Amino acid sequence: MKTYNCDIVIVGAGPGGSMAAKFCAQAGLDTIIIEKKAEIGAPLRCAEGVSKKWLEEVGIAPDPAWICADMAGAVIRSPSGYTFQLDESKAGSEVGYVLERHLFDKALARDAADAGAKIMMRTSCTDVIRKDGKLVGIKAKSMGEPIEIYADCVVAADGYESQVARWAGIETVPKMNDIDTCIQYRMSNIDIDQQYCEFVIGNDIAPGGYLWLFPKGNRSANVGIGVMAKRCKNPGDPKYYLDKFIAGDERLKNGQILEVVGGMVSTCPGLDSATDDNLIIVGDAARIIDPITGGGICHACRTGMYAGKVLADCANKKDFSKAALKPYEKMWRDRMEDKIYRNWMAKERLNELDDDTIDDLIKIISTSDIGEVNVYNLLKVIKEKYPKVVEGFEDLI
Ligand SMILES: Cc1cc2nc3c(=O)[nH]c(=O)nc-3n(C[C@H](O)[C@H](O)[C@H](O)COP(=O)(O)OP(=O)(O)OC[C@H]3O[C@@H](n4cnc5c(N)ncnc54)[C@H](O)[C@@H]3O)c2cc1C
Repeated sequence: MKTYNCDIVIVGAGPGGSMAAKFCAQAGLDTIIIEKKAEIGAPLRCAEGVSKKWLEEVGIAPDPAWICADMAGAVIRSPSGYTFQLDESKAGSEVGYVLERHLFDKALARDAADAGAKIMMRTSCTDVIRKDGKLVGIKAKSMGEPIEIYADCVVAADGYESQVARWAGIETVPKMNDIDTCIQYRMSNIDIDQQYCEFVIGNDIAPGGYLWLFPKGNRSANVGIGVMAKRCKNPGDPKYYLDKFIAGDERLKNGQILEVVGGMVSTCPGLDSATDDNLIIVGDAARIIDPITGGGICHACRTGMYAGKVLADCANKKDFSKAALKPYEKMWRDRMEDKIYRNWMAKERLNELDDDTIDDLIKIISTSDIGEVNVYNLLKVIKEKYPKVVEGFEDLI
């Protein structure tokens, strides 16, 4: 069997894996990243919406090559059709660009390759390798051939369906109320406002989740839905709700579907521990994602970057133990944990509200002076007018 030796092996060439690979390789570490699919970034499993603010933080310069549409703002629509429209100056921390995700992911992988990382496509991790109990690498099938890759540290960047962390003994399966089942159509021949991302909420529209319309230009958009898995009675429920909405919406009902995307999003707080001896878990694999929006591209990029930086330090000290990897836990928790936890609590509460209350909330926030609109500021207004909704996590608001 063919074997490889390197400093760091990364499973998954999504944003988390590629960012980790770039920072490891930049630090001079011998880095291999493996990807099971035949093409990075495809098939698409994303609504492609991101805010702009975090890109600079992770050293990514906006590039027209992967920006499909630049948003002027966002609209939130309540069950009875009350709307709350936000301009980009106010909604900038939640909306910004609609990406060409397949090009974005490839650009990040190209950066990793330029920094010196080796990328192995069509290479699927099948297990981890332990010697005398110590994690020393991974087993994989590369173009159908079994291989082994030995490394000082394994980075699990294998996304929502992550198995690497589980093979390494970490429990990662979310509860049913912390999973959204999603389906999305790329629709054309539709008449939505191409300047605004739209979010539609309500129990009869998207139980426990939301429906989105993210413009892609040329009278097209990503029109999708996430429904809480616990509130799905049948596997086809998300499609049922999406089709029902489209049929009843004048702007969409003559639309044609160019692409169908399915996928799952975790909506829990991150894992209790995203490290172990010789193992770091990043992005969706670590459940580090915004539980309200299901947005995880920026979280994956941040955690990938943190992992790369910490691994560079560990390599200098020749120590990849859980204790040595602790700065990674500190970095992601300091930057994101409070917000993720707060948004998780908010998601749990929003899920308990009836449609009349959701209508009321949208009316209240649309007539309040919120300043910059983000989940935190919205919750502040809700805390004043509907304290019950935020009971139990007021101190985080
Ligand atoms: C329908 C849908 C809509 C979404 N919309 C948005 C959005 O608008 N904005 C946003 O920010 N986020 C969105 N997300 C979430 C976002 O896609 C993820 O948070 C993000 O992709 C996480 O990046 P990652 O690198 O952690 O994982 P991924 O991007 O999932 O990358 C993981 C990679 O690992 C590979 N892999 C998995 N297992 C193996 C294996 N055994 N061996 C080798 N390779 C493996 C996969 O093929 C994949 O390429 C959406 C998700 C879904 C499902």
